[in-house]
Amino acid sequence: MPNLKPKNGKRLRDQGFRPSNFPRLEQCIHFVERDAAGSDEAATRGLQVHQWLEQALNEELDPDEIPDAEAREAVLWALNEIARRGIVVHGVEENLEIASPAGESLTAGVVDAWGRTGTELWGIDFKTGDQRDYSAQFAAYGRALMSKAGEGHCAWLELYLDLRIANEYDIASAEADDRVLQLHRRFLARRREEPVANVYCDWCGARANCPVWLNDASKAMAASPAEPAAAPEQPVDRLVYEIERLKQDPVKLGQFYTAYRRLEKLVEDDWRLKEAIFDYLQRGEEVPGFRLQRSPVQETVEVEQVLLKCAVPMGSIRAREFLSVSIPKLRQEWAKWSREPLPVEIKQGPVSLHVRSDTPKGSGRAAAARRARRHTAAAADTADTA
Ligand code: SF4
Repeated sequence: MPNLKPKNGKRLRDQGFRPSNFPRLEQCIHFVERDAAGSDEAATRGLQVHQWLEQALNEELDPDEIPDAEAREAVLWALNEIARRGIVVHGVEENLEIASPAGESLTAGVVDAWGRTGTELWGIDFKTGDQRDYSAQFAAYGRALMSKAGEGHCAWLELYLDLRIANEYDIASAEADDRVLQLHRRFLARRREEPVANVYCDWCGARANCPVWLNDASKAMAASPAEPAAAPEQPVDRLVYEIERLKQDPVKLGQFYTAYRRLEKLVEDDWRLKEAIFDYLQRGEEVPGFRLQRSPVQETVEVEQVLLKCAVPMGSIRAREFLSVSIPKLRQEWAKWSREPLPVEIKQGPVSLHVRSDTPKGSGRAAAARRARRHTAAAADTADTA
């Protein structure tokens, strides 16, 4: 075991140089964790599932006792993935020091679990949410585990709880060393690097003041596709003129639209300008152009009651005026009820195209899988109690 001399480790960790941030820091060295991460519903659920897994691995909790059916299935799946590889767990939620080759503590973090299959060392990481490249994080934890055990290789098991995907990696000590030390060097000299927009910007606490986000709009507007014949002098005419020229250049157009969407996110999510207007109005102060308005009262009705008491006596001709059908749900429920094809014709509407920005492949799949499983688990619970 290396002789750890904590020097700047704690300081760097407090500044965000933590293994859990390494994948984000590799993309943009200026990434800052958002303070409010824990208030997000998905993050809260992720913490809770991790806690159940920790307790189950420490044999402090019988997973069958987990009250949330969907989380219970996820925990049981993860435990089974570990068991079927023959991994005997030796440590859960263990604090690991990440040290330099000279033994100086660079940072520290908590590994979800680690264990062994015979002589082979394994690190284990549980993930809720979508698949991403977390290899920088595993390099850091793997390196710490290998250094503790005095080994040059370790296997890594990455378990996506919502997606039920298990990935395995092989981590070599020398490669992990390079990766961690290179990131450490970049972090120390981060003032020399420019921020780089990436998929993690939405989770970055620096977004409200990030030059990439703030400057994009003006850059896009300023960059013109061709030399102006004669730019109008009035600001409004000039703006119309610039917009027309923007529309003639697909590259600038894409850049501008991205910048506009970023500005929209800053206004809504980071600067919260609408909430500021709401606060003024609530205090009785005037904000020209705005007023408080009551939200319409949400009305609900039992669908079954509508069918029995309205649709049947009124007849189908009248009922179709107020009923609407979810086609995916109709298909799903019919398939559960009958093996026959759906007895109604589903017509295809005309094909329409819409613009979509490039987001990483797989984004949102975890949330969709979670929702579907929750639905199934709730239906099973209802059937059990009926
Ligand atoms: S918002 Fe700015 S600082 Fe944060 S990750 Fe994106 S580019 Fe980097």
